[in-house]
Amino acid sequence: MLTLQEAQAAILTRVRATDRTETVPLARACGRFAARALNAAVDNPAFDNSAMDGYALNIRDLASHAGELPVLGESSCGSAPQALTPGTAMRIFTGAPLPAGADTVVMQEDVERDGEHAHFPQDTRPGAQVRRRGEDFRAGEQLYAPGRRLSAYDLALLSAAGIAEVSVFVRPRVLVVATGDELVAPGQPLRPGQIYESNRLATLLQLATLGAETVDGGTVRDDPAALRALLKDAGGYDFIITSGGASVGDHDLVKQVFAEIGEISFWKVKIKPGKPVAFGRVGTRAHFFALPGNPVSSLVTFKLFVEPALYAWHHSRPPVLELPATIVNSFQRKPGRMEFLRARLWSENGELKAEALTGQGSHQIGTLRHTNGFICINEDSSGFAAGERVHALPL
Ligand code: AMP
Ligand code: MG
Repeated sequence: MLTLQEAQAAILTRVRATDRTETVPLARACGRFAARALNAAVDNPAFDNSAMDGYALNIRDLASHAGELPVLGESSCGSAPQALTPGTAMRIFTGAPLPAGADTVVMQEDVERDGEHAHFPQDTRPGAQVRRRGEDFRAGEQLYAPGRRLSAYDLALLSAAGIAEVSVFVRPRVLVVATGDELVAPGQPLRPGQIYESNRLATLLQLATLGAETVDGGTVRDDPAALRALLKDAGGYDFIITSGGASVGDHDLVKQVFAEIGEISFWKVKIKPGKPVAFGRVGTRAHFFALPGNPVSSLVTFKLFVEPALYAWHHSRPPVLELPATIVNSFQRKPGRMEFLRARLWSENGELKAEALTGQGSHQIGTLRHTNGFICINEDSSGFAAGERVHALPL
């Protein structure tokens, strides 16, 4: 059985990153991965401009005119103003270009207006309230490296930088299938022994968030023939993700069929929840993940294995945020596997606190209501006493 690090390393070495790219407008690039470096087309700010509504002036005129200047002209947003007439101040608005000859803006709250004249504070700082051209970034400056997963913030920044479209890696095509004779879609009545299926939806939605093109393969019965039939066009996918049937029960057929038609890299990892998780390949194109059926195991193994694999496919690595926290309750266990406890995390007096929630069974999806992170327990640890330091992974 592999450790978590060994299994993740095996995935990173085996995932074949794509080299297929396409160009999309910014509005369609959210969640996609940049295929090339993205450089600014313009300086930001594009020109010296005012940070406030007020008056533009030259600081030398203030001293020579004892803080009082006639007001002449106006600079408003969207057009270029006349040059500042020496010995005068110009009305200016937030974001409007600083007129040639001006070097300072005084906000209007600090100005006393008296007809055509205005009084300015004597302690006005040279260069005050001016946003300098290029102080944020410069034309030609690299804003993002290849592999960057573009967020809404990134796309706003690229718009400001004058970028209209970006080269991104194509979306991976991902087939998602749930397996199990007991599974029924919500909305249908439950017969004895049946349960409602929930893994497929979570997997499909998380994949969509990661920019994948998903194909819903529905639910298949615990029947090798049905599974084989579904996987016969595996070549049309970059990833195939199943849930259930990956462990060692008589009806756990996924691993069996997978071994038959593909090549398994590993199928057990020393983690809890999620031990029976398989990874490998089918044909020359598809990477295969057989995730465990228990709902929480399926979510945890998606996060630990599928997410890094998808990033790797796009020449990227997922962001990992691990924070030290103080656990508020005790949690005892048998050492042996790395464990991910569903936890409630919050901050108190500047310190991160973590509560290991009750209901850690891998079938207990109800505990997710209170979960906003995990507490990570190392293999050899037998747990924690209240007040000890732990590693928290915010979600
Ligand atoms: P398995 O991995 O197939 O042995 O399933 C382990 C547990 O997870 C069993 O209790 C299954 O009923 C349950 N399970 C399997 N697949 C799903 C699913 N897609 N949605 C909800 N529960 C599931
Ligand atoms: Mg099953």
